[in-house]
Amino acid sequence: MTAIPELLGSIPTGCFIDGQWREANSGARFDVENPATGEALVSVADATPEDGMAALDAAVAAQESWAATPPRQRAELLRAGFEAIHARADDFALLMTLEMGKSLAESKGEVAYGAEFLRWFAEQTCRLHGGYGAAPDGKQRILVMKRPVGPCLLITPWNFPLAMATRKAGPALAAGCAVVIKPAQGTPLTTLLFAQVMAEVGVPAGVINVVPTTSAGAVTGPLLADSRLRKMSFTGSTEVGRKLLAAAAPNILRTSMELGGNAPFVVFADADIDAAVDGAMAAKFRNIGQACTAANRFIVHEDIAAEFTAALAAKAAAQQVGPGYEPGVTLGPLINDDALQHVTELVADAQQRGANVATGGAAMTGKGYFFPPTVLGGVDPQARVMREEIFGPVAAITTFKTEEEAVALANDCDFGLISYCFTSDVARSVRMMERIESGMIAINSGVISNPAAPFGGVKQSGLGREGGDEGIEEYLETVYVGIGGL
Ligand code: NAP
Repeated sequence: MTAIPELLGSIPTGCFIDGQWREANSGARFDVENPATGEALVSVADATPEDGMAALDAAVAAQESWAATPPRQRAELLRAGFEAIHARADDFALLMTLEMGKSLAESKGEVAYGAEFLRWFAEQTCRLHGGYGAAPDGKQRILVMKRPVGPCLLITPWNFPLAMATRKAGPALAAGCAVVIKPAQGTPLTTLLFAQVMAEVGVPAGVINVVPTTSAGAVTGPLLADSRLRKMSFTGSTEVGRKLLAAAAPNILRTSMELGGNAPFVVFADADIDAAVDGAMAAKFRNIGQACTAANRFIVHEDIAAEFTAALAAKAAAQQVGPGYEPGVTLGPLINDDALQHVTELVADAQQRGANVATGGAAMTGKGYFFPPTVLGGVDPQARVMREEIFGPVAAITTFKTEEEAVALANDCDFGLISYCFTSDVARSVRMMERIESGMIAINSGVISNPAAPFGGVKQSGLGREGGDEGIEEYLETVYVGIGGL
């Protein structure tokens, strides 16, 4: 593995526009921080609205020839990107751990998951077929074609720096769209390395552009107002998503919105408790709890709540907390001080409303933004920790008596991204699957994200799907041609 200073010294830190690494036109740069220490890792160019427009100009200029590039050639470039990311897996993993905080083992998992979007969509590229048939009266032919939607703006969050970029860029490139990526301010480095790797494997200039910036709204606003932009795909909070939908409205822009979650994790008395605890560990503590798919509300049958809480607390407490790049560490820091304060407040609120702390409970002192793995029992369903997205390593447990009550608690939420359900009763799992309001439902499993499956939410968790057969449709227009005069 490359040493940290050597890696940081070798990665690109400019804006990537039209195949060139450039300083921001203001010359300004901003620091990217290591959340494990609070110290700067390296600085990157701070793109201005002019840089953003230059990136859109480049994407617009590249659009026609990229769309006309034979599907097989586009597929092979994506496949080459998949191979190249794997070839540099250690660098990608270390970089992600440095800028985002997760453990190296988790970063390696994200490298595999993130690269897989390129392979999956490479495989889809040559199968973008439409349809042909006779109209019912036989007088016309109905031809349905698929066309790339056109230049896209992809806005990504900090929590999965590689996978959120590939989950959008993969299908966009496969469909024949050129893109401008606006990575999160906290974690631009992985996206910049991704752009470099894709350029090295031969993706033409202008097809992928990246504009890191501290002025997200000012840089993306003019793009959203420009009618040459045809699509925005956003992953982030519901609050920002709502603003972006409003900004996309005047041009009736195609949008895909992967927004916040507040996942219920329901454990029935008939569940395999060991499996439920293992599932809970993955669903709660993966990514330091900073995942839109993170279990947020544990809804556990009252007969097994004590046993489940004790077993979960024991496993949670056994995690090793520290900088993700240190050997043996399983739980890294939160992303920044705001996140640490937010989690601290939610835990204090739950305690004030009567919750008991089975393990953890208070922020750690010293450098970095560390919060220990925390399990809270007897949590009031109205406590903030149950109503808001926690985005931290805190498991909040409440209890239920009947299946009806479990469904009501699970659905009592404005979000609907993912739900987890543990039961050994097949009929009950089918009932839950049909009644729970979310775009994804995990039955007896703590992690179900998969590039081959449609990822996305209902209610205020978003619009559209990423991955699966559905993912590429987000970047295609359906065009109908009626052929008459036969
Ligand atoms: P965020 O604050 O909404 O930011 C997401 C992205 O939007 C960042 O690149 C951010 O840039 C940018 N942004 C912020 N304000 C903007 C504006 N006014 N105009 C244009 N862009 C703007 O979310 P986050 O804190 O990075 O990520 C956490 C959230 O993402 C959670 O709610 C989580 O559930 C959600 N998430 C959802 C999914 C999913 O697939 N459903 C996946 C992962 C995360 P800056 O970094 O400069 O602020």
